[in-house]
Amino acid sequence: MSTAVSKDIKGSTLEAPVKPAQLHDLVHKIIARQPALDMHTHLYTPAFGTPVHNRTAKVDPDGLMLWGIEELVTYHYLVAEVYRVVPASVVPYEQFWRWPKSRQADHIWKHLFVENTPVSEACRGVLTTITRLGLDPNEKTLDNYRAFFAAMDPDEYIDKVMQLANVSGITMTNAVFDDNERRRWLANPRVAADSRFRAVLRIDPLLRNFPQAAAKLTEWGYATESELTPTTIDEVRRFLNDWLDRQSAIYCAVSLPPDFRYPANPADSVGQAGQTILEKAILPTCAQRKLPFAMMIGSNLRTQPALRDAGDTSGLADIASLARLCREFPENKFFVTMLARENQHELCVIARKFSNLMPFGCWWFLNNPSLITEMTRMRFELLGTTFIPQHSDARILDQLIYKWDHSRQVIAAVLEEMYLRILQTGRTVTHADIVRDVEKLLDGNFKAFLAQ
Ligand SMILES: [Zn+2]
Repeated sequence: MSTAVSKDIKGSTLEAPVKPAQLHDLVHKIIARQPALDMHTHLYTPAFGTPVHNRTAKVDPDGLMLWGIEELVTYHYLVAEVYRVVPASVVPYEQFWRWPKSRQADHIWKHLFVENTPVSEACRGVLTTITRLGLDPNEKTLDNYRAFFAAMDPDEYIDKVMQLANVSGITMTNAVFDDNERRRWLANPRVAADSRFRAVLRIDPLLRNFPQAAAKLTEWGYATESELTPTTIDEVRRFLNDWLDRQSAIYCAVSLPPDFRYPANPADSVGQAGQTILEKAILPTCAQRKLPFAMMIGSNLRTQPALRDAGDTSGLADIASLARLCREFPENKFFVTMLARENQHELCVIARKFSNLMPFGCWWFLNNPSLITEMTRMRFELLGTTFIPQHSDARILDQLIYKWDHSRQVIAAVLEEMYLRILQTGRTVTHADIVRDVEKLLDGNFKAFLAQ
């Protein structure tokens, strides 16, 4: 048990039963003090370069480490939201994308934060972040924020954000089929050598578009053909092992469309080639290395292509396919998050049947207090404390602050409710019980599943 977490919470000794009147403060304090190990983000170490103007590092226009006010305000959630206010008939999409990022940010700030009340969760997130950084969220322009970030050193700023967010470790998503990212790994073998970060091998094209992935593998020196011959399978496995080694990846991940089926439906977007790659290359490689395979299921890409990254939507996925995978591949471990609200109950039900399945987080359009409350409550009721309640999915470093701040509030409120119900049965709950449970939820369950 962490003494940092348990010491000096007034009026409570570790083994004494907690009174109902103490529960609220105690649960909120323990959750605030427990560092979170963030199991899925899109954040990068400074060695991946940063396009953000700053005090010390060279500005790299294609750099992957995103942070600061321009990035926060032009996050794709807010691009989608500004088009609710200023329609494309006024600012055509192509015109918006041609603007420099500073102009995009000014446009979004004016229309979502100044001329309208920033009610949405994505807007509130920017406000929380700004305030927790010690800035005034009532500014009419971005000038003062720009000056604040321009004076930062990116490497030091990571420490500051992790401290404010109380995050102990950041898990990256390392897309090997992204040429920009791949070049950086090849140019600098130590690009991810930063004790604050861990790598994850992300391989979507292998499942979502095998012919395209195979053409790239061939270009990179692997003897793959678009036909799934035994040589091709062996070469895909060699490719996976090379990159898992290069990245010291702690798991392997894909995002899948709602029409993903196992076994494959020939008409769906993953199809037979994807099924064969999954069965013969990805899952055996993960099993051999004892690495979990993470599936994020339910994203429909580019429903509104003109909005680019902001144009994706969600769809109902097939839970029976997930159950078949868990049953037929008992040597594999699966981290799973699903995007449709309607899949959440059945995901909990399936997780009761398969200990090689770990549900995690409240993804994307579900990352709103009302839905996090509903999902977290449901997960406690069906799974006890054996799940991972949240990941940040942050693409902009500063988002760690609000994502963890907002989620901690919701998780604490739901956990308090669970403890009150237990007290009503006559079973006592101690301070030590709460510390143990919170440690599992924000840190331990993730580590234990990796170690299984
Ligand atoms: Zn993500």
